[in-house]
Amino acid sequence: MPVLGIVENMSGFICPHCGQTVDIFKRGGGGGEKAAEAYGVPFLGRIPLVAELVEKSDQGIPAVVYSEEMRKIFDEIARKVREQVEKKPHSGTDSSM
Ligand SMILES: [Zn+2]
Repeated sequence: MPVLGIVENMSGFICPHCGQTVDIFKRGGGGGEKAAEAYGVPFLGRIPLVAELVEKSDQGIPAVVYSEEMRKIFDEIARKVREQVEKKPHSGTDSSM
């Protein structure tokens, strides 16, 4: 299965009280970007950890429905995934036919 890229999940925690991003995991060098570079695949984006998102997800409500910020993040990732899919030839297709 071809890897289309890497998404960095739980990239920083957005404080529900003040809205500031708190780096609970070390993000300094950008772990996602480093991994993408090491594997030679595109870096697709980062999804922050948001308390509200966890609650709503448990209720079955996707983040993109109520959060403009999350919608932008997911749209951008989806756009990059699409770019990769359109770029790559379909694996399993015999081009010699
Ligand atoms: Zn805070």
